[in-house]
Amino acid sequence: MNKDQDPIANTRVIGIFAHIDAGKTTTSEAILYYTGRIHRIGSVDDGTTQLDWMEQERTRGITITAAATTCVWRGCRINLIDTPGHIDFTAEVVRSIRVIDGAVIVLCGVGGVETQTETVWRHANRQSLPRIIFVNKLDRPVADFWQVLGDVRRRLTPNAVPLQLPIGSGDALAGVVDLLDRQALVWRSGENEPVAQPIPTEMQAEVAAAREALVDAICETDESLLAQRLDGQEPNVASLRVALRRATGAGVLAPVVCGSARERIGVQPLLDAVVDYLPSPVEAPPVVGTLPGSAEVTERPSQPDAPFCASAFKIVSDPHVGHLTWVRVFSGQLLTGQAVCLPRTGAEERVGRIYQMHANRRELVKQMAPGDVMALVGLKSAITGDTLCDPAHPIALETFVFPEPVIAVALRPVDEQDQNKLRQSIARLCSEDPTLVAGFDAETDEDLLSGMGELHLEIAVDRLRTEYGVNTQASLPRVAYRETVRRRAEASGTYRQQSGGHGHFAVVRLRVEPLERGGGIVFEARASASELDDQFIRAAEAGAREAMGKGIVAGYPVSDVRVTLLGGRAHEIDSNSMDFRIAGSMAVRQAMRQAIPTLLEPMMCADINVDQDHVGIIVADLGRRRGSVSTIHLRADTRNLVGEVPLAEARGYATDLRNMTHGRGTFTLEFRRYELVPDELAEKLIEQRRLEGQVPQR
Ligand code: GDP
Repeated sequence: MNKDQDPIANTRVIGIFAHIDAGKTTTSEAILYYTGRIHRIGSVDDGTTQLDWMEQERTRGITITAAATTCVWRGCRINLIDTPGHIDFTAEVVRSIRVIDGAVIVLCGVGGVETQTETVWRHANRQSLPRIIFVNKLDRPVADFWQVLGDVRRRLTPNAVPLQLPIGSGDALAGVVDLLDRQALVWRSGENEPVAQPIPTEMQAEVAAAREALVDAICETDESLLAQRLDGQEPNVASLRVALRRATGAGVLAPVVCGSARERIGVQPLLDAVVDYLPSPVEAPPVVGTLPGSAEVTERPSQPDAPFCASAFKIVSDPHVGHLTWVRVFSGQLLTGQAVCLPRTGAEERVGRIYQMHANRRELVKQMAPGDVMALVGLKSAITGDTLCDPAHPIALETFVFPEPVIAVALRPVDEQDQNKLRQSIARLCSEDPTLVAGFDAETDEDLLSGMGELHLEIAVDRLRTEYGVNTQASLPRVAYRETVRRRAEASGTYRQQSGGHGHFAVVRLRVEPLERGGGIVFEARASASELDDQFIRAAEAGAREAMGKGIVAGYPVSDVRVTLLGGRAHEIDSNSMDFRIAGSMAVRQAMRQAIPTLLEPMMCADINVDQDHVGIIVADLGRRRGSVSTIHLRADTRNLVGEVPLAEARGYATDLRNMTHGRGTFTLEFRRYELVPDELAEKLIEQRRLEGQVPQR
C-alpha cells in the first residue's frame, strides 16, 4: 500500500503538555478549530472550552482529566490526548506519555521553562518520546522568543532547533518566518489563513543566520547530507525535512515553532510540524511486553494483522454511558462484541461499544486498529494501566509506575447515612486516579484519602460533592511520614509457649541497618540462618515485614532499612510457621528500637513566581518553614524562585502566599523525595503519636 493511503502511517498519537497557564487549552482549542472539529473557539477565561468538560475544570480553569479527541490535518488523523498542567496530577502525565508517540510542549513566551516543564521533560526522556516545542504567547508585551529558547537549551535540551522566528513582538506580533521555506507567514487581523510574504528586510540577516544553524544541525544528524554540506552544497529542502523527521523521531533534535494561540498566530504551522516531524505509530518502536506469568519478553508490531493489544490509560465514570475505559491500540484490530483478555487477572471481557471522541461529541464506531485512541463500554474490571489483548495471544505490557501518595485527609460524611455512599465514591475516584489511595484508620474509625498534594485532595473532595453528591468534612491534611533507623542494631525475638499440650517455640535473630534514601525495605538471610527451614525463614520475613508495614515507633510504615536474618532456633516438634512470624515481628521491633529510630518526611520542590518586591519576604518565609531557595530566575515582570520545603511546613501555603503577595504570587509544589526529619522534631512527633495512641502494640 502506498504510504499516503495507509491509515496507520497517516495517524499521529500525540499529547500536549504545558505548565499551568502556558496556554495548552487555548492551543488545543485552536487546533480543533482549524481542523474543523469545532466551529467556534471557546475561551478558557469564560469557561466555554470543549476539552475541559468537567465542571471542576470549568470553575477552576484547569484541566484535570485527560480527554482524548480526534481531528484531521492535511489528510492525517491526529489523536490528541489532553493532559493536565498541574503537577499534583503526575499520574495523568505519566500515563499519557506511555500511550502517545510524540508530544507538543507548550511554553509561555514570558515564563519559559518552569519546574513542571522539566518534570514532564524528564518523564518524556524515560520513554524516549519525540517532542516539538511551541513557544506561545509571543503577543504578550514582554515575551522574548530568544530568551525562552536559551532557557530551553539550558534547562531542557541543547538540541532544540527553531524552525521559525517570530515577526514582531508583543502587540506587533504579525506572524512567523519559516526558515526552511524562507518565507514569511502573516496573519491579518480577523482572517484565519496566513498570507505568504517575502521575509521583512530588517529580519533578513537574523533569518539567514538562524537558517544556517538549522541546516547545520539537521546535516549533523545525517551522513550523506553532512557530506554534501562539507562539499559546499546546500541539500534541498525535501531531503532536509526527511532528515529532520528522522532526527526528531530519534529524539536527536527537538524542533521549535512559535506564535500565539490566543491570537491564532502560528497554529497551522504547528499542525504542519506535528504531521511532518512527529512519528506515526508505524515509525514508533514496537511495544514490548511479557508473556503473562513469565519473564519472556515479546513485542507487537503496529500492524492491523498482528494480534490485538491495547493499553487502558484512563477510566472515567460517565454520567450518560457509565464506565468508560480509554484505550490506545498498539497492534491488531478489535470489533465490537469481541472479547479481550486482561492479563493482570486473566479475565476475559466483551467490548460492548466503542466510541471515538471528537472534543465532547462521541461517535459510535465498529472497530479499532493500531494508533486508535478510543473509549470502550462494557469492561467491568479494567483498571488504569491494564493491558487488553487477544485471548489467543496474551501479552502484558509494562504497567505504569505511580508515585506513592504523600499526604492524606480523613473524611466524614456530613450526613451519617452517607457512610456507604462515601466509601463507594472514594473507591470510584481511586479507580480513576491511581495516585489517589483509599484507606481506613481503625483507631479513629475514619475513612482516609491520600494523594500527591493539597490541591489534589481538595479537588477530589470537591468532586465527591459535585459528581457523587456526598458532602464531607475533611480533616486537616496529614503528612505521610515514614519510619527509618539511624544506625545498625541486632536483636533476638523469642516466642515460647510450652506449658502443656502442643507448644510453640521460635527464636529469630536479625540485624537492621540504614539503607540509602528510596531504598525501601530489603530482606536478606545470612548463610548462618540456614539452620532454619526455608518455610521458617519465609515466615520470619513475613512477620518482620508486617511489623514494619504498621510502623514500630510512630505507626508509620518503615522505609530505607535493610534487615538481615542472622539465625534462629526451632523446636523439633513444637515450632510452626506462625511462631516464626511472631518471633520475626518481635525481633525486628526490638532491633529497630535500638537502632535510633527516626522519621522521614516528604520534601517538595517549590516553584514560586512573585514580583521583585516580594522576593525577600518569600525567601525569609521559606527559611522559617525549614525550606530554602536554590535558584532565582529573572523573568521579564516576575522572579521565579525554585527551592525545597518540607511538605509538613507547606500546608496552607496557597493562602499564605496569597496574603504575602496580595494575591499576585503563584506556586506549585511537587514531591521530590523523602528526607530525614531533624532529630528534635522527630522526637516530638514520635512522642505525640505515642500520646495519641497511634503506635501499634504488636
Ligand atoms: P493552560 O492552563 O495551559 O491550559 O492555559 P490556558 O489555555 O487555560 O491559558 C491560560 C491563560 O492564558 C488564559 O487566560 C488564556 O486566555 C491565556 N492565553 C493562552 N494563550 C495565549 C496567547 O497566545 N497569548 C496571550 N496573551 N494569552 C494567552
